[in-house]
Amino acid sequence: MSFPNLAIPADGQRITAKDGRLDVPDRPIIPFILGDGIGTDVTPAMQKMLDAAVAKGGGGKSIAWVEVFAGERAMAARNEWLPQETLDAFAHYRVGIKGPLTTPIGGGIRSLNVAIRQSLDLYANVRPVYYIEGLPSPVLEPRNMNIVLFREATEDVYAGIEWQAGSPEARKLITFLNDEMGAKGIESVDGTGIGVKPISAFRTKRLVRKAIQYALDRGRSTVTLVHKGNIMKYTEGAFRDWGYEVAREEFGDRTITEAALWAEHDGKQPAGHVLMNDRIADNMLQQILIRTRDYEVLALPNLNGDYLSDAAAAQIGGLGIAHGANIGDEVAVFEAVHGTAPKYAGMDKANPSAVTLSGLMMLEHLGWHAAADALRGAIGRAIADKVVTYDIARQTTGATEVSCSGFARAVVDRM
Ligand code: NAP
Repeated sequence: MSFPNLAIPADGQRITAKDGRLDVPDRPIIPFILGDGIGTDVTPAMQKMLDAAVAKGGGGKSIAWVEVFAGERAMAARNEWLPQETLDAFAHYRVGIKGPLTTPIGGGIRSLNVAIRQSLDLYANVRPVYYIEGLPSPVLEPRNMNIVLFREATEDVYAGIEWQAGSPEARKLITFLNDEMGAKGIESVDGTGIGVKPISAFRTKRLVRKAIQYALDRGRSTVTLVHKGNIMKYTEGAFRDWGYEVAREEFGDRTITEAALWAEHDGKQPAGHVLMNDRIADNMLQQILIRTRDYEVLALPNLNGDYLSDAAAAQIGGLGIAHGANIGDEVAVFEAVHGTAPKYAGMDKANPSAVTLSGLMMLEHLGWHAAADALRGAIGRAIADKVVTYDIARQTTGATEVSCSGFARAVVDRM
């Protein structure tokens, strides 16, 4: 595949896959989206820190970055929001990273982030939330937080299947629901917008399968299915039921349900078994605050996952820290949890930690653990030294506030 519009480094090589495992060359080509808003600040800072970490990791390795376009930069350069070439480049090179992209509220283009996840079938939005020593927190025991969210990323109300109030499509669907499906509670045919919430067995199961496999591989002891199945019985309730089904049918000898734990094991978890439980989403928002330690891996439908990961991030330093990855069977694109924070755009002010920790996940995904450890250590030392960006500094006594690029320098200095 050729990309005539992209500046592909001639000395870079493509990551390939063999028997489901990545084969990573010493100088892999990594496509990146700079991002809108603070993306122009945090993404270059992230690249600087990753380059230093990879050099520190040794073995003559380096990253051959190639910019691919989406959002406002794509509109300016190519007159389209999400060129097919960008999706093709991520698919071809298998591993990439992206800055945040603007999504207008109430109208305009649909989310480019959702489009990227859907087009590349990046179905697992994986968001680890853990405490880094020295970060400010509104809770008494932030160290208790050490969870990984597996958020389904391709369906649910998030898929954007909805029609505006008064549109012919909305009227047609509402009339059908009223007249043929016996729907009750739709206010009016003309003055109601309407959306669709698809949740499927196939997409739920592959997400929960990944979460359980992760827990088994990493020695995590609990997987919690988070849903609002008491109200949305056939979508979120089904998510819960299909989740338990995967555990029973595919991991029956290595998982145990909460009910069986008490009925058969007096509450003591058998060695080598992952505990499967489920919580209703609203309860989960308070559980994560007051019984934080009880939770390790969460599997959630798309919208719940979005809400819960921001709420959890607040306990460990906020959105400037919260990081993640979009992972499919073939391709992975890493990205921060936060958005474009427009009021700080171009001010060299935003915290680049979130996208850099996403980059750290990318290094681990490549199997470059020495580089990942170097980066983790250096970020940890900068935070412990209280050399931090504004968002952390405003909550920390005795902090030295640095700019976005200043934080990158502080991290590189500590490598
Ligand atoms: P946001 O961009 O995440 O910003 C919300 C607030 O979070 C900021 O005002 C700031 O708080 C804090 N924050 C976010 N990133 C930070 C960073 N790197 N360093 C320090 N503080 C940070 O959320 P939003 O304002 O709701 O959304 C803005 C746009 O981003 C929207 O168009 C939205 O659709 C888009 N978005 C994109 C993605 C994505 O690309 N994956 C994700 C979410 C949202 P303070 O004001 O308190 O300092």
